[in-house]
Amino acid sequence: MGPGTADDGTTGDGALGRPELLAALREEDPERQEALRRRAEAVRTACVGEAVHLRALIEVSNHCIRRCTYCGLRAPNRRLARYRLSMNEVLDAARSAASLGLGTVVIQAGEDPALTERWVAELVRRLKGETGLAVTLSLGARTPAELRAWRRAGADRYLLRFETSNRALFRHVHPDAPGWGADRLDLLRVLRDLDYEVGSGVIVGLPGQTWNDLVTDLETFRRLDLDMIGVGPYLAHPDTPLGRSAGCAPPGTGQVPPSETVTGRVVALTRLLCPRSNIPATTAVETLAPGRGYECALSFGANVLMPCFTPATQAARYETYPGHNERLVSSAQAVADARRRIAALGRVVGTGDGMSPNVVRRRAVGGAA
Ligand code: SAH
Repeated sequence: MGPGTADDGTTGDGALGRPELLAALREEDPERQEALRRRAEAVRTACVGEAVHLRALIEVSNHCIRRCTYCGLRAPNRRLARYRLSMNEVLDAARSAASLGLGTVVIQAGEDPALTERWVAELVRRLKGETGLAVTLSLGARTPAELRAWRRAGADRYLLRFETSNRALFRHVHPDAPGWGADRLDLLRVLRDLDYEVGSGVIVGLPGQTWNDLVTDLETFRRLDLDMIGVGPYLAHPDTPLGRSAGCAPPGTGQVPPSETVTGRVVALTRLLCPRSNIPATTAVETLAPGRGYECALSFGANVLMPCFTPATQAARYETYPGHNERLVSSAQAVADARRRIAALGRVVGTGDGMSPNVVRRRAVGGAA
């Protein structure tokens, strides 16, 4: 049984070549879209079940040395007030996540060199030792030596979106990508060799992204055999070069619109292509469609939610796009809200660390490589 085949014999991706993926991505007919949704939900139920896993997202720093043209954290953005949490602040947030029953913390930041190899390694050791939580890092394109040190310190997972598989577009929106270390596809291979659980993803509707690019993104998810895949719509930030330039390209240009429905279809196709991966309902889709974005993603094949545990005094400053964390309540309220919304969908909240069954399968069939 290949990675794209569901446990119940349901063919996850059997008939999904490029033409089918392209047609499904662009399908606006409500009945056919509903058929795709149901197919994704059947595969989701068979392969990862009814559990929705909660991850505590702790945004440890909004300092960033990069100039990504879509992201509000970019170094030249002088309008953003910068912050960096102390180790004790991160540990406090993680303890509160553990006490609320969560099994995983996600430590995310801009690319901040002040988060040194030693500091992060010490943080990981203390998180593992003092909370027992699974630790996911998402600190950008760091060096292989750093990634190795953090894995040795006990980090379990790493999230690094490749953002778009179109190399020319990637270079265009990441103007300062320096040398080897910034090649995110290379780093994803390094992470796999280090036996991390590996996560990646893309932005849906990034200006310049075509439908064909998005098909290649989906094929890349499958080829990389990813354990976690996050996709969310592009949200324009007025203090960035892309956000300042005129919105979306006109219809007929092949530009993917950054919409809720396209995001839903990308989530559904991701589930079909990568049946055992953990797929979050991202904050971006909820920001685009407040009050229903999480439900949209969860009913198109997603199985993870990431309530914010960044201290309330700083959370709104992790402003990758406007509105991110804006309506933030306390983390306890965010968890209660997530539990209520999961229950309303007839789903259950996951227990334990919620490791992807894809990792379990890969380790069973042959170890890290
Ligand atoms: N420095 C880390 C974390 C970045 S924030 C890294 O580079 O991996 C996490 C994700 O937010 C990014 O990977 C990107 O996909 C997303 N993001 C940033 N700006 C965005 C925007 N304007 N709209 C939608 N998503 C955005």
